[in-house]
Amino acid sequence: MNNDLLLELISKAKEIAKQNFCCKYSNFTVGVALLCQDGSIYTGFNIENHGIESICAERATFAKALTDGHKEFTALAVVGKKLDEEKFNKTLPCGYCRQFLSEYTKPDFKIYTYDDNEDKLYSYTIAELLPESFKL
Ligand SMILES: [Zn+2]
Repeated sequence: MNNDLLLELISKAKEIAKQNFCCKYSNFTVGVALLCQDGSIYTGFNIENHGIESICAERATFAKALTDGHKEFTALAVVGKKLDEEKFNKTLPCGYCRQFLSEYTKPDFKIYTYDDNEDKLYSYTIAELLPESFKL
């Protein structure tokens, strides 16, 4: 992926995370930007409730893209921070989302996160984040 597109993904993930009004339980906002194979980009944030399972930003965003008919995906940028902080921390998908991603992407699907404190980009594949995933 070229650097401009990667920076755009990170920027869009931060932008949507700052708009999050649905994380009042954790006060931790997560924003993601999902790049589909056709070049379109979807964004989303975590949507919490006090029931058993909230909806992570990753799955919220995939739900938007999948229900619009997208089936092939290239990369995902994930960022997260506490609401009362300015800087984003290194944030990666939870275990549940890793399994979800492994079922809707190819093993070389890229996941990026950015840490403002370290000023550092991290890059993984879903196969690296979830080796030996559950398969039927
Ligand atoms: Zn998750």
